[in-house]
Amino acid sequence: MKKSKTKPWHVNLLTLFPEMFPGSLGQSLSGKALGKDVWSYECINIRDFAGGVHKCVDDTPFGGGAGMVMRPDVIEKALLSIKQPGRKIYMSPRGKPLNQALIEDLATTPTLTILCGRYEGVDQRLLDAHNFEEISIGDYVLSGGEPAAIILMDACIRLLDGVMGNKATPDEESFSNGLLEYPHYTRPAQWTDANGQLRTIPEVLISGHHKNIESWRLEQSEILTRERRYDLWKKHMKNRQ
Ligand code: SAM
Repeated sequence: MKKSKTKPWHVNLLTLFPEMFPGSLGQSLSGKALGKDVWSYECINIRDFAGGVHKCVDDTPFGGGAGMVMRPDVIEKALLSIKQPGRKIYMSPRGKPLNQALIEDLATTPTLTILCGRYEGVDQRLLDAHNFEEISIGDYVLSGGEPAAIILMDACIRLLDGVMGNKATPDEESFSNGLLEYPHYTRPAQWTDANGQLRTIPEVLISGHHKNIESWRLEQSEILTRERRYDLWKKHMKNRQ
């Protein structure tokens, strides 16, 4: 396998479950890119930095309430073991929402350290002391930060040089121009579905007329965005003014 000559995009993962990585990132395009050193990762097992026979990484919350909180002293030891932490991120449902603009920014940041929370989360003092940036992957609660870190990394890795065959692809995708992507069609041009209904494709796509295809796609993107994501549509209209 031909190795990349440039320094890989690198992610340090602070986690209690190192065996969850690379997970799906070891497959397909991201897996091949990992093999070619386009990106690299290192898991730091937080539990390795806990003291005592029980290697305790969490404790009950001050003020009472359900669940356990991850201890700041243990996580700090794990964090300080990293020589070059780069940009420090804590995956958290109360963080800044992850979107394509933030992904593009993270993909051009050479080194990230991602803290994956568990239980009720992490002691606030650790986040404050080390200026962690909180990032959320959506308005729902996962049981841990590892799947969220994998989603963030997946979206970044596909933007790295040499990962996607067709370089033009990311510029045409959903969100890259503030709109959702237009619908796709492939062979067969005439397809009868399981209910016996014949389904054809829009004529313009086989017209060979590139300008018309481009305008049809833009029109479809605009219709879909207006129907499905009025928040994006409003932003798009404002930027056009
Ligand atoms: N008590 C926390 C709350 O209500 O905000 C939820 C803790 S959750 C059970 C455990 C960990 O999963 C979090 O510390 C965080 O690292 C991760 N997590 C859960 N949902 C997430 C989301 N939407 N985005 C990013 N990380 C998330």
